[in-house]
Amino acid sequence: MKIVLLGPPGAGKGTQAKSISNRYSIPHISTGDIFRKNIAENTPLGIEAKKHIDKGHLVPDDLTIDIVKDRLKKEDCDKGYLLDGFPRTAMQAEALECFLNSRGEKLNTALLIDVPRGFILERMTGRRVCPACGASYHIKFNPPTIDGRCDICGTDIIQRKDDVESTVSERLDVYDKQTEPLINYYKSEGLLTIVDGTKAINVVFEEICNILGSNKNDNY
Ligand code: ADP
Ligand code: ADP
Ligand code: ZN
Repeated sequence: MKIVLLGPPGAGKGTQAKSISNRYSIPHISTGDIFRKNIAENTPLGIEAKKHIDKGHLVPDDLTIDIVKDRLKKEDCDKGYLLDGFPRTAMQAEALECFLNSRGEKLNTALLIDVPRGFILERMTGRRVCPACGASYHIKFNPPTIDGRCDICGTDIIQRKDDVESTVSERLDVYDKQTEPLINYYKSEGLLTIVDGTKAINVVFEEICNILGSNKNDNY
């Protein structure tokens, strides 16, 4: 199963992606996580990506596309994958389509987690993440069992530098201009499915499973 997750920053893509990846046994590929790992390791990619991420801007397309293509060629992607945070521009969507076409493959669905603007600021400024395993928490909506500690690996959770209010508004503008148009693109391709992302985390996951359920055993 090959899935693209769409939705504004803070919609719950990362949160749902972890559960979908477990349930359907497909790798969760998050470009944001890849960039953050490279930033933590101070690699050349990380140094370049950081310049853009800290300002709330997108990392350039050529760089991002190469990284994703390399990742999708790995063996664990043979039975499918879940893309979280890619594509984010028309050029990235085209590159993904070309890549799939060249291999005679296609996406099962582009799943939009639909959350209106009014919900986003509180979600993003309350987000806390685990720097070790990437798990996402929320101080109010999804706190860890032990205050300040990741449930999965016990590492101290942190606030992302780009989750402060000033950068969040820039990221939302970038989303509206560059990423939101992809919703219509996938709609016109007949691939768009939509889930109401304002409901509780477990309810959203159930609805996603209802949408994906019938695809469970195919192996595009
Ligand atoms: P994205 O990957 O789309 O940016 P995240 O999955 O990191 O979003 O979620 C953003 C924040 O909102 C996190 O703090 C997360 O715990 C919280 N969150 C995710 N889904 C929900 C939901 N359905 N209801 C309330 N809070 C949520
Ligand atoms: P969020 O969870 O809030 O949607 P991500 O973790 O997906 O954020 O991405 C964090 C940042 O990494 C983005 O604001 C952007 O700067 C960069 N980034 C992630 N994915 C892409 C992409 N596909 N193209 C360009 N930049 C990206
Ligand atoms: Zn962790």
